[in-house]
Amino acid sequence: MGRDRDGDWDGAPVKTVNWINGAWEGADGGATFSVRNPATGEEIARVPDCGAAEARRALDAAAAAFPAWAALPAIDRANVLFNVYAQMLTRARELAALLTRENGKPIREALAEIQYAADFVRWSAEEARRVYGETIPASVAGKRHLVLKQPLGVVAAITPWNFPAAMITRKVAPALAAGCTVVIKPAEQTPLSALALAELFEAAMLPPGVLNVITGNPEPIAKEMLAHPKVRKIAFTGSTEVGKLLMRGAADGLKRVALELGGHAPFIVFADADLDKAADGCVANKFRNSGQTCICANRVYVQQEVHDAFAKKLADRASALVIGDGMDEKTQIGPMIDEGGLKKVIEHVEDAKRRGAKVLCGGRVRDGKWFEPTVMTGVPAEARVLREETFGPVAPVVAFRTEEEVLRLANDTPYGLAAYFFTKDASRLFRVAEALEYGIIGVNDPSPGVPQAPFGGMKESGMGREGGKWGIEEYVEVKHVSIGL
Ligand code: NAP
Repeated sequence: MGRDRDGDWDGAPVKTVNWINGAWEGADGGATFSVRNPATGEEIARVPDCGAAEARRALDAAAAAFPAWAALPAIDRANVLFNVYAQMLTRARELAALLTRENGKPIREALAEIQYAADFVRWSAEEARRVYGETIPASVAGKRHLVLKQPLGVVAAITPWNFPAAMITRKVAPALAAGCTVVIKPAEQTPLSALALAELFEAAMLPPGVLNVITGNPEPIAKEMLAHPKVRKIAFTGSTEVGKLLMRGAADGLKRVALELGGHAPFIVFADADLDKAADGCVANKFRNSGQTCICANRVYVQQEVHDAFAKKLADRASALVIGDGMDEKTQIGPMIDEGGLKKVIEHVEDAKRRGAKVLCGGRVRDGKWFEPTVMTGVPAEARVLREETFGPVAPVVAFRTEEEVLRLANDTPYGLAAYFFTKDASRLFRVAEALEYGIIGVNDPSPGVPQAPFGGMKESGMGREGGKWGIEEYVEVKHVSIGL
């Protein structure tokens, strides 16, 4: 990667080859695919279009590297991660600019993502030394029971485009800390951040094969991951549909799966809430990454008494958001990732309008690539925007009367990733937090994600947790050693 004297991204070539067994290489036949800047449509790089053969090579390399990496003292593994953490901070602007260019998100959000991604690396480095075993009191004299925690083995990871750095470090850092080795396949829209991170691991002297990054066709690559006998875990973040495919595929080899899948978050505002705080929180949560965030609000439920006032506050704030190229520091709303993403948003808004919804602000495509931040009211329950994940900057606001009613509405979905509510009532705080069938709950808090807490969903939003001590536990095998004295 190149950097100019100001420390800014200067458009110099990035790593556009894969990192397999410590070497940088292209696809076997030399095939490549294009990576485009979603704001301009410009091709910013071509990366290897790999398939089964390269995937097998990467998996074999990870398998060969595993015994030595697993045997290293935890502090030695941690030191590599501390080194990567330091590099991420030093090169944060450069990494953020690269991320914005391939993903489109505003540069400030990209910087925040790099910090968030780096925090997982530091947390895992710190936690590596605390993967403690246990001793259990025996039932008879002359015996001892030990519980050992040992690294699982080779981990195969597949990640999405919406958080091109953080979704990688959230898997790679705890896996490496625990002593596993990893093959990662990033999303086709955003492979450059993954390759840039691999460069940092190389600079940190990570031994060859411990981490491998392969770009290309997901189906043959995933097939190899599922079939390889040394792969013990599939770690996936992406759509529920693909998550289910991978879980089915993992069944034959009884490989563990961790699935961070789609969401359909309710954002509930009770009449006793601080409405300005709730409206600020709703904007921060809903419109982050142009609504292309798995934990962002998809449905906004507002108690009848404050519905109109809240909808106005939300629309006033949403319509003031600045749309533009993410590289412009003023931009708050970047482009949609691609035509498919934009099309789904248009369909959801048009469907709601046909069913009688009123558009308070936005509702239109801007310059073919952006969708204006949109607030709608009067959206009927059957509307797609209230049934499916929209993944765009659209906030349907729906009135409710009672706590019981809103809990029924909020839980009436196959998804269960994140939910939010705003209230000042302490009893309600516990009642509602406990009743919501979601893995992450933000109470008067629109951004609950931190590296030290568990992140993950219930129901069809997935299984397993990333982050905190739970994140590392996902990568260890628990072994009972019973000793007769
Ligand atoms: P996606 O289509 O499932 O893609 C995610 C990854 O899976 C990409 O690397 C993709 O590769 C790969 N993939 C696609 N088809 C595959 C197949 N048949 N077999 C194996 N891998 C395959 O999801 P997306 O549209 O990129 O991401 C958006 C979704 O991710 C949303 O539903 C969002 O809620 C969810 N998400 C969840 C979390 C969470 O933590 N729960 C976080 C972020 C996003 P290609 O890119 O090469 O097609």
